[in-house]
Amino acid sequence: MKRSLDWNYSCSLCLDDSCLETSTHLFRDCSLSSRIWAASFLGIRGQMGHNISIQAWIINWINFLFQKSDYVTTVPIFISTLWRIWCIRNSHKFNGVAPDLALSMTQIMAEASMVTSCINHRLPTKVNLDLLTSDDLSASTNIRNYFLVFLIGHTLCSNYVRLKCDDSWKHGFKAAAGWLIQYANGEVFRQDSARFWASSPLHAESMALLYAITDAISHGFRHIDATTDCLQLVLQVTGNMDVSHDAKLIIRSIISLISTTHCISISYCPRQLNRIAHFIARLAME
Ligand SMILES: [Zn+2]
Repeated sequence: MKRSLDWNYSCSLCLDDSCLETSTHLFRDCSLSSRIWAASFLGIRGQMGHNISIQAWIINWINFLFQKSDYVTTVPIFISTLWRIWCIRNSHKFNGVAPDLALSMTQIMAEASMVTSCINHRLPTKVNLDLLTSDDLSASTNIRNYFLVFLIGHTLCSNYVRLKCDDSWKHGFKAAAGWLIQYANGEVFRQDSARFWASSPLHAESMALLYAITDAISHGFRHIDATTDCLQLVLQVTGNMDVSHDAKLIIRSIISLISTTHCISISYCPRQLNRIAHFIARLAME
């Protein structure tokens, strides 16, 4: 524009020729971006900040979100929303892909959850393992019988670890994952939990599995026997059932993540053998 080139400078999203595609318009004031902000979990009404620049607006929001206790989930959602608007704009402009609001919201949530999992979020509350029965800890050998499927390798190396994971999900999209890593003899190596947003119970279950596998890999384990009490998730990860829309991106992440392991299996673990993970997730939710 500065050099007076003959080009279309109008916004490619709202199709209003009178709207110049400035960063302030694209990321905040465009009618499509406003709808995305308003529909997001943050419920931001973008048009309210009309008189301030996009730079100041972003800094204000991030400073504001950082002051809240749930910043580990909200700041990634804010940043993922900006990133998603940029992606929608580019897909539309260069590939002619029509903006899909519902899909974008799912993508924002999935991306934000991934970022949250990267922030090493530790919760102080731990399950007291002394309260658990021997059945909870030695259950590992019983699990073997339930739908054991190898994702990589065809047998587990002798030095494998077992992952148990579970989620806790509430309406309003609040969710928590709890997981633990056990040696083959049942001894617990570590336990951890995380809070995040999830659109459905299956989405939450798949996030819990993603957290558990990520944690095991980040602690150097490459021989993994993962279990979940969500049979639907086992079937979807192993390709025996069509992948649900709400868990698609997470399941894709799980599948790409496991390629860095030496051997990994996934199996269904009955609820009564998954009590520890369930307790950890419940505690994280409180
Ligand atoms: Zn626009």
